Amino acid sequence: MLGNIKYWENKALLGHYAIPHFNVWNAEMLMGVIDAAEEAKAPVIISFGTGFVGNTSFEDFSHMMVSMAKKASVPVILHWDHGRSMEIVQNAYNHEMNSVMRDASAFEFEENIKLTKEVVDYFHPLGIPVEAELGHVGNETVYEEALASYQYTNPDQAAEFVQRTGCDSLAVAIGNQHGVYTSEPKLNFEVIEKVRAAVNVPLVLHGASGISDADIKRAISLGIAKINIHTELCLAAMDAIQANTNDSFLEIERKVRSAVKERALEKIELFGTKGRAE
Ligand SMILES: [Zn+2]
Repeated sequence: MLGNIKYWENKALLGHYAIPHFNVWNAEMLMGVIDAAEEAKAPVIISFGTGFVGNTSFEDFSHMMVSMAKKASVPVILHWDHGRSMEIVQNAYNHEMNSVMRDASAFEFEENIKLTKEVVDYFHPLGIPVEAELGHVGNETVYEEALASYQYTNPDQAAEFVQRTGCDSLAVAIGNQHGVYTSEPKLNFEVIEKVRAAVNVPLVLHGASGISDADIKRAISLGIAKINIHTELCLAAMDAIQANTNDSFLEIERKVRSAVKERALEKIELFGTKGRAE
């Protein structure tokens, strides 16, 4: 069944757990994640983004996402990740995504507010919640170098940002990064605490693949209510392929789906989402 992200994020925030967000851009990832959510009786977010269009046609794949979300025995949210323009998120909505992120975090504060607000003003009358980002979570690079010029979320700007944009959830930059961490992630939990105290919307942690279980639990305890996982699903799939290179492609495909499912199940359990579906 389709789920409402705003309902689930706020429920998770109150219940001190987090809704898992999984980027899915092929059939094995999508099926593996739905398998896990159904087995764990957990609400789940499946998500597509611009970075995957070189691999998979969203115009076509979105139909499979929508079909599987509707048929699932648990609430499934259809999300567009890191929307870089109004046109991109409108296209996502036109393909039945029921949640979008407008990421204008690469722009300075006033421009981020303006671009985010445009999307919020467009989507709220349509009943679509909007996630925004303040501070900037960068992409895969050498982690130590990224930290040297890292743009943490400024807690002093958070309340004004949420109030002026009207965003429904806020992605924070606390030392997290997309892709594979080249050394131990160093999260600044004080930023979460301060932002949590300043705003009343659920907070989102991107780039959570590779963050320790203890740090994930601490982040949830401080108010993170949605956690994004992509890289770890890819790593699980690659391990399954490498361990089964002599199998047929049909068999490898099944093992990849199963490996994705197992990794998704681990995250669902870690985030406290198991058994939360209604
Ligand atoms: Zn992200």
